[in-house]
Amino acid sequence: MSNQTSFYENVNRYFDQAAIYTNHPAALLEHVKQCNCTYRVEFPLRHDDGTIEIIYGWRVEHSHHKLPTKGGIRYAPEVNEDEVQALAALMTYKCAIVDVPFGGAKGGIKIDPKKYTLPQLERITRRYTHELIKKNFIGPAVDVPAPDYGSGEREMAWIADTYLATHPLELNALGCVTGKPVAQGGIRGRREATGRGLFYALREACNQVDDMKARNLSTGVAGKRCIVQGLGNVGSNFAQIASREGQVVITGIAEYEGGIFNGEGLDIDAVLQYRQENKSILNYPGAISFANSGEVLEQECDVLVPAALENQITEQNAARIQAKIILEGANGPVTPEAEEILLHKGVLMIPDMYANAGGVIVSYFEWLKNLSHVRFGRLSQLAEEKSEGKLLRAIEEATHFQFPEIERKQIVHGSDEYDLVVSGLEKTMIDAYLNILEIRGQKKLQNLRTAAYAISIDKVATTYEQLGIFP
Ligand code: GLU
Repeated sequence: MSNQTSFYENVNRYFDQAAIYTNHPAALLEHVKQCNCTYRVEFPLRHDDGTIEIIYGWRVEHSHHKLPTKGGIRYAPEVNEDEVQALAALMTYKCAIVDVPFGGAKGGIKIDPKKYTLPQLERITRRYTHELIKKNFIGPAVDVPAPDYGSGEREMAWIADTYLATHPLELNALGCVTGKPVAQGGIRGRREATGRGLFYALREACNQVDDMKARNLSTGVAGKRCIVQGLGNVGSNFAQIASREGQVVITGIAEYEGGIFNGEGLDIDAVLQYRQENKSILNYPGAISFANSGEVLEQECDVLVPAALENQITEQNAARIQAKIILEGANGPVTPEAEEILLHKGVLMIPDMYANAGGVIVSYFEWLKNLSHVRFGRLSQLAEEKSEGKLLRAIEEATHFQFPEIERKQIVHGSDEYDLVVSGLEKTMIDAYLNILEIRGQKKLQNLRTAAYAISIDKVATTYEQLGIFP
């Protein structure tokens, strides 16, 4: 990393490339760009043999133009301040592009969660939460964490429980964290949200006739051959939803133990089951295995989906990438140097801040649910069903046609929480893509990323202006 630019510098380079297409004073743009506050914590963890280990963690709030700030907590051994700052900044731009009314934040705990027992992970998570509480870096109105790489529903439940225990009189306390289990204030559809949003992003991109024609691709997502890097929450849900709902063909998968490829397509459910049983995807029957997972990314395909970590496509391997579309499931998977090479080759880049925004979109719905203390659909589901039933009966009477019971059930269906979450997510992803296309056209840009950054920067800067901070 030493002779390379840092992740935060990379995000800021993307920012600078786009800021010139906005019209705000330099000082305001600088304020938008910088992280508002960085909180670093250190605390001891006592092991069973009595030895003590120091655990390092961060919480960075990038922008307070809207509150609360929002962003996940990463659990990984490589976590560092620069990375958390970069990820916090990305959260600001991500929320802005999809009109989620939050500022950006991110947290990180520098541990390899696989190396700790369950009770140790719980102690680390609860202590980290206490550190956040001490300095007001968590709360439904100030800063709301969520899952990220290495954390999930279990950790969010511990965080919520710790916060609730220390804020017994706070009515909206459950809204202090999102990505919780459904039984503890979570929302249906949050787990798959980032992967599902990623699929909608690809579908919208593939529906643009000119963008597809320019790359010798047919219009429409069906049949697109796709290589996925990372079978975590994002990659696995994307692969399942894209193949099931979009007839996308998953041809390659890269994971840290290696990769597999079959140009005819892989059965993603079978691959996931194989990996669970064998603790590796290598030697999956009916596919070529690669010990070096990097080689899988360079195989022939239409779409490459880096859904693991940052800095995966760099100037070292960019020239060998054969994909015509890169769909960024991870945050920061492509460096600016690599992007230059890829754009030169005519690759369509669907940028992280938009592509993987599904998670925070549904986090927003979860936070709203926690604040309103009611499940979406609770008041409307039966009413919808009754009015649909009435309409159906009127049609039957007028036409003397009786709908079969199965069809009747499909038509007379009031939206439940999951239906509403999915449709809210889909609509948000569609609208944001159309907005990016519009600005790309208006400003005569080649790159979707520059257009997306320009929109976000403009929204954040305008909010500051409206607040009267930069008159
Ligand atoms: N960690 C996810 C992200 O990078 C989700 C953040 C959230 O839901 O607040 O977008």
